[in-house]
Amino acid sequence: MNRAESERLAARFSALGYTEAPRIEAADIVVVNSCVVRKHAEDKVVNKLHNLKALKRRLPYIRIVLTGCFVGQDTAELYKLFPYVDDFLKPGELPDWLPEAACMSVAPIPSAVSAFVPIIQGCNNFCTYCIVPYRRGREKSRHVEEVVCEVQQLTQRGVKEVTLVGQNVDSYGNDLPSKPNLAYLLTELNGIDGLMRLRFLTNHPKDMSAVLIDTMARLDKICHQINLPVQSGDDTILHAMHRGYKVADYCALIARLRQAMMDIAITTDVIVGFPGESDEQFQNTYQLLAKLKFDAVHVAAYSPRSGTLAANNFVDDVPLVTKKARLAAVELLQEQIAGDINASFLGKTLEVLVDGTNKGRWQGRTRSDKMVFFSGGENLQGETVMVSIEKTSSWSLQGKLYAKQSQ
Ligand code: SF4
Repeated sequence: MNRAESERLAARFSALGYTEAPRIEAADIVVVNSCVVRKHAEDKVVNKLHNLKALKRRLPYIRIVLTGCFVGQDTAELYKLFPYVDDFLKPGELPDWLPEAACMSVAPIPSAVSAFVPIIQGCNNFCTYCIVPYRRGREKSRHVEEVVCEVQQLTQRGVKEVTLVGQNVDSYGNDLPSKPNLAYLLTELNGIDGLMRLRFLTNHPKDMSAVLIDTMARLDKICHQINLPVQSGDDTILHAMHRGYKVADYCALIARLRQAMMDIAITTDVIVGFPGESDEQFQNTYQLLAKLKFDAVHVAAYSPRSGTLAANNFVDDVPLVTKKARLAAVELLQEQIAGDINASFLGKTLEVLVDGTNKGRWQGRTRSDKMVFFSGGENLQGETVMVSIEKTSSWSLQGKLYAKQSQ
């Protein structure tokens, strides 16, 4: 979401004739687009702002703008804390000194063959550990026509793969008068000429519908790949997190997805060390990950976010050393699982959308979002090619060009 919003902001400045500065000292405007989903991310924003203080002292004409989730409802305190910052903008807001023209919906200028397109902002769920609903507010969907128009513009400029993003894409359309859902939006987008791949994230296990799963299985452009955050493998912890489902519900959903799409790649998010999480409760998570065998697990140690229900009501009682040990255990387990899954591609030929080069080799992603590095062929940027896989690791696949595909 953060990356998608940065691209959109850049497109608006570009529409006004601004270009990217080669160095920060050469800029007229510096925009910091912040993420505070974890404490570590918030600390990085504060450090960045402190560094900018010296820049502003040296070059006072540079306009500094802070946007993103760091900026909550009340900006008065921020103006006091960071007086050298000129503007604090809530996510999605634009500075009032930008001319009207920039406030129109402008599709980002794609720098690659893939683009992120936000379809819904905010969240109505209030998971107890999460700061997002306080900073981004309630769910607000973009109209179907607006999203379709943007994806059409992007494909006309060479984009072949679009990822629809939102805090909870499964709630898409609930706040719109005609109540379109994600399955309907995907069906509309699937018909766009030139578009080859469609993805969407992030899903919520309590909101993912059978209609969406059927649509994923049926439409040719939707990649069989999904991120479905489980967060914990223990019902008591899930309840304390306000996740709205039980472990058994989650497992049933995974089974339904794998039944509908045998080749689906599933990734998940996990928080370890949530307040009160015992060794046994952590083991429930560990065993669940071992049983469900995800393609990737994004694991984070719990950190209290000020203002959330968990920070207000629960004691952060799992010692840091225990959190770190649990995090390392999950990472080690997942490395083995991902290594085994990737090894199953050895000797196969996979479709890869080429998005760049790395150390003299081409790089790109499969429809299941596996990173592939390969040799052979010229001028492949943006092409869809078939690659024979000759080597695998937990993180990527490597091989050589087998054939170019007709576009
Ligand atoms: S679903 Fe929960 S974790 Fe995700 S953005 Fe909403 S409140 Fe945060």
